[in-house]
Parts: sequence; structure tokens; C-alpha cells
Amino acid sequence: MAYAYDDQNIFAKILRGEIPNNTVLETEHTLAFRDIAPKAPDHVLVIPKGPYVCFDHFCNDASAEEIVDFARAAGQVCKMLGCEPGHGGEGFRAITNAGEDGVQEVPHYHLHILAGRPMGPMLL
Ligand code: AMP
Repeated sequence: MAYAYDDQNIFAKILRGEIPNNTVLETEHTLAFRDIAPKAPDHVLVIPKGPYVCFDHFCNDASAEEIVDFARAAGQVCKMLGCEPGHGGEGFRAITNAGEDGVQEVPHYHLHILAGRPMGPMLL
């Protein structure tokens, strides 16, 4: 079954410039911006510009160029935040929520990068 993308979701509006965002990094295929309700001192959302609903949709349907651009942008964000473990940073958590069971609120794929405090054990 094809993924149904809702182009009225809030990140689609951000990508169209209809609502503001606090941009950290923008590349050809990717946008990274600060979460409006941060759960850590640094909380950045990395999103592809293409209309992908969730992680598996992106991994299955995005082009190799989009995927590489996204991965490099996420890596660049870690560098910009100074949180790379082993490179002077104290580490971070990168997570994505998908669908109902994953409690995904915004149906446009996004990677959360959380840093700036110990994250504690991962909830299972
Ligand atoms: P998720 O539950 O994984 O879908 O996460 C959605 C995230 O988007 C939450 O952490 C929200 O705080 C964040 N969010 C919602 N609206 C905005 C917005 N306008 N700008 C930045 N972040 C937002």
C-alpha cells in the first residue's frame, strides 16, 4: 500500500515557508531546525524536504542522493552542536518515532537529535 502524505502537516508548512522555524542547517534536500518544545538543551529536528511520512517511507522510497544528503546533514548538525562523542563532545541521542505505536505526532519524517544532558536509559 502506498504511503499517504498529508501536505497540511506542520513540517510541510515550514518547508513551504508558511510558518517560521529556527533553522540550524539547510542543504539541497534536507532542513534541520530547533524543536519548538525542546526535551534537552539541544533538540534539533532533521527532516528531508521530500514528502516522506516516516522513517521506513524515507528509507524505502527516497533517492540515494536524498538519503546521503540527509545523513550528511544529520552528521553536520552533530558537529555544529559539538556533541560528537570522541571528538570533544559528550554524546547525544538520535531517535525517530513512526506511526501510532511509535507515537509520531507530525506525519513528515524527522530525526530528533537530543544533546546537552545525560539522556538516561532508553525507554522500552
Ligand atoms: P514526533 O512526536 O516524533 O512526531 O515529534 C514531533 C516534534 O515536533 C515534537 O518534539 C514537537 O515539539 C515538534 N514540533 C511541533 N511543531 C513544531 C514547530 N512548529 N517547530 C518546531 N518543532 C515543532
